[in-house]
Amino acid sequence: DLAPLSYRGQHQELAAMVDSVDALMARVSEASARERSFIADAAHELRTPLAAMRINVEALHGQTADWRQRELLEGILSSGNRAARLVSQLLVLMRSDAAASLGDAGALLSLDELLQDRMAVMSGLAGARGVELELQSVAGVAIVGWRESLVSLADNLVDNAIKYSPRGGVVRVGLWHVEGWAVLSVEDQGPGIAPELRSRVFDRFFRAPKQEQGGSGLGLAIALGAARRHGGRIELTDGEQGGLKVEVWLPAA
Ligand code: ADP
Repeated sequence: DLAPLSYRGQHQELAAMVDSVDALMARVSEASARERSFIADAAHELRTPLAAMRINVEALHGQTADWRQRELLEGILSSGNRAARLVSQLLVLMRSDAAASLGDAGALLSLDELLQDRMAVMSGLAGARGVELELQSVAGVAIVGWRESLVSLADNLVDNAIKYSPRGGVVRVGLWHVEGWAVLSVEDQGPGIAPELRSRVFDRFFRAPKQEQGGSGLGLAIALGAARRHGGRIELTDGEQGGLKVEVWLPAA
């Protein structure tokens, strides 16, 4: 009876192949976790010299009365600030990726309380840009998750909504329950995102062409990484008040 024997042979071969693919995947994910933590370490190391540079440039700026020199120093400061922001976003992105692959379990968190905290923090930025920030939230929205990751999710979305809003615009943030999901929405009155760009804006370092606002192109990649880490997703649609509406769906606890 040759057929069952050859089946068995093929089955064993297949099983051996599956084992070696599993082993390979484990090595790849170990290697990429190491790579991510290298990038996170490098980003962390870059923060100190950037901060030192900033202090020195600010000191020089305070000492000089020559307007041309002051202008040059302001240019250096603004580039330094951009670099510092990029480095800290890179750090958040790599750290949360690395933590996810290490498989640490989340904790039970109140998303409505976390959101209220973040709105209080972001209201200063909104005020400085002449943008009104509104929060409408139901109480008792619990999810199992990672606080740091959810903070960067909320901060990046609200920060974008404020950044791309016109002066005098309103940013509406909402939180509610829909059939086992916690839904966070952030809606602005800015220019929105063209439908053909909506899948690309989540790519790392992607920025829409002819962008006037400064940025790193990492904010939405961080937000999507955080949503996925919680078993959730992000949807971009046209807002009811003319701008962009971002909806984050996270499994509720
Ligand atoms: P950044 O804002 O730093 O450029 P993001 O990853 O946060 O990077 O966003 C990627 C791109 O998506 C932005 O460059 C911008 O073109 C677009 N975008 C994000 N949020 C908004 C928004 N609320 N309104 C309009 N465009 C947006």
